Amino acid sequence: AFAQIEAVEENINSYVTVLNKEEILKKTEEVQKKIDAGKLTSPLAGVPVAIKDNMCTENVLTTCSSKILSNFYPTYTAEAVLKLEEAGAIIIGKTNMDEFAMGSTTETSYYGVTKNPFNTEHVPGGSSGGSCAAVAAEECSYALGSDTGGSIRQPSSFCGVTGIKPTYGTVSRYGLIAYGSSLDQIGPVAKDVTDCATILETIAGYDSKDSTSVKREKYDFTSALVDDVAGMKIGIPKDYFGEGLDKEVKESIMNAVKVLEEKGAIVEEFDLSLVEYAIPAYYVIAAAEASSNLARFDGVKYGYRTKEYNGLHNMYKKTRSEGFGEEVKRRIMLGSFVLSSGYYDAYYLKALRTKALIKKAFDEAFAKYDVIIGPAAPTTAPKLGDSLSDPIKMYLGDIYTISVNLAGLPGISVPCGMDSKGLPIGMQIIGDCFKENNIIRAAYAFE
Ligand code: GLN
Repeated sequence: AFAQIEAVEENINSYVTVLNKEEILKKTEEVQKKIDAGKLTSPLAGVPVAIKDNMCTENVLTTCSSKILSNFYPTYTAEAVLKLEEAGAIIIGKTNMDEFAMGSTTETSYYGVTKNPFNTEHVPGGSSGGSCAAVAAEECSYALGSDTGGSIRQPSSFCGVTGIKPTYGTVSRYGLIAYGSSLDQIGPVAKDVTDCATILETIAGYDSKDSTSVKREKYDFTSALVDDVAGMKIGIPKDYFGEGLDKEVKESIMNAVKVLEEKGAIVEEFDLSLVEYAIPAYYVIAAAEASSNLARFDGVKYGYRTKEYNGLHNMYKKTRSEGFGEEVKRRIMLGSFVLSSGYYDAYYLKALRTKALIKKAFDEAFAKYDVIIGPAAPTTAPKLGDSLSDPIKMYLGDIYTISVNLAGLPGISVPCGMDSKGLPIGMQIIGDCFKENNIIRAAYAFE
């Protein structure tokens, strides 16, 4: 991993922080001793992992790719990361992302853009673009990402890697710097479905430190790694294949579905209504929660503080004006607006009602189907700079991923082909709540 970082990192910029090589190698030796003594049995022991820079790591810089956290060294480690460490995983660095996970291209980072390893003129997707690019460029064996509205699945699809967004409540959010708390989930990004299932099994689990953590009977995802989809019912939402979907992406996904059909799955098209309402509902809810979550960055408790100021109010104002980037400010303003009295019912409450209806539409679909298959994104990776100039266009690119977060469902993105420009295409498989094993089984059988 270090050799690869030395070779390509200058061009790709997957990392905000790469940890000290000597210290890491020393740690690896200690882990190896424990493996030899039979004290560490996890398949992840000794394997290098990269962590998205919105997960707290004790005494290791954690920036959320923002200037406002450019000097933040947390005093504790996120639960999901701790679980990896307990399994003997070797953390080698913190990966670049859109600032506070707001974005779909990793271009809103304060630490420069990450480039797509398949073609450095293109974005890696986002917001977990650094994690996905690092895995694709073999700068680590696997990575953790976070997904509020598609941030694991969309960059996985752009970078030709596999990523899972688990059911809300499966992986502890303790130590994950919050964006949209009711939507955020941590998940694995890896080279294949087997690795993803293994990592998810390691990081999943009930945690009393996260009030939305769900206690499940067992966390067994690797038993779903069987090449058998005979009789599995697959729903294809017509609304996911209409206007706006790139022809090559569509073709590639349809071919992938055919593979599953040939293996004995039963495929049927259906209407998943309300798809068009997902984007407005998501951007109201996510912005509302973000405006509240980001109120804590005020230059008092931690993080960046403006150099010169005139009184407390002026210090807040200057710190936040200088510390946050454009996109983050846009979301804070939008979120504050939809939560303000007089507008709350018209926007925020309406968005919550829409969210409930979207969940209902999925419930009805999952009464008939084991999994739902569609694209992860309408196109392959856009060119650098193309999305930034037009935020609405960027938001529209989230059409296939965000309803999954609104409904709390699990989703996986698996590579299913390449377009004529040589850029990867990802297929998204969505499951019912706590039915990760269905999406893992379908993805594994396809892969
Ligand atoms: N692109 C979406 C947004 O900007 C999703 C980001 C995410 O999942 N963190 O909000």
